[in-house]
Amino acid sequence: MKILLSESQLQAGIVDLAGRLRARYEQRPITIVAIMTGSLVFLADLIRRLDMPLHISLIQASSYRGGTTSGDLSLSSTMMLDITGRDCLLLDDIFDTGKTLSRILDWMWQQQPASVTTAVLLNKVGQSRVAVRPDYSVFDIPNEFVVGYGLDYDDLYRNLPYVGVMEAEDLRQHASGR
Ligand code: 5GP
Ligand code: MG
Repeated sequence: MKILLSESQLQAGIVDLAGRLRARYEQRPITIVAIMTGSLVFLADLIRRLDMPLHISLIQASSYRGGTTSGDLSLSSTMMLDITGRDCLLLDDIFDTGKTLSRILDWMWQQQPASVTTAVLLNKVGQSRVAVRPDYSVFDIPNEFVVGYGLDYDDLYRNLPYVGVMEAEDLRQHASGR
């Protein structure tokens, strides 16, 4: 595995983002809408650096079923709170084509929240296919398929404490079921 962002780089980035969000919202209550499952670790680390009253709402989006190419996006909202009139912060692990964020934003606005701000951990530079851009992105990364810190390959590797790029050897080990 080639390490792209180490544990300490990730933590420093989260501290920086938390500082900006604290300055933006101060003690106003917010509802964090986190896109599962990729933003799970990002969510867990970020919320412990925030001190305003906050609600956590989860939405499931799946677009990479067992591979590295974009498929159809399916949404499941059974763990969503009512966001009507709320100041929302939409979180995702990575902004690639932007279709996931854009589609979920459209869906959120239909429920008439007071505001929506977007934050992503990773931004794949130059890949966007949509008009919207995240309000906050912690790290710009090149166009490589990354895993770890919540991000998966075939539903594995989410527990790696760093963000890495799988190399030929990792893909070979994965294929052999190790
Ligand atoms: P988009 O809709 O912006 O093209 O893709 C966003 C979603 O695709 C992310 O929420 C993430 O689940 C998945 N994704 C995009 N790029 C990567 C990547 O490099 N690695 C992993 N594991 N998932 C990715
Ligand atoms: Mg995702």
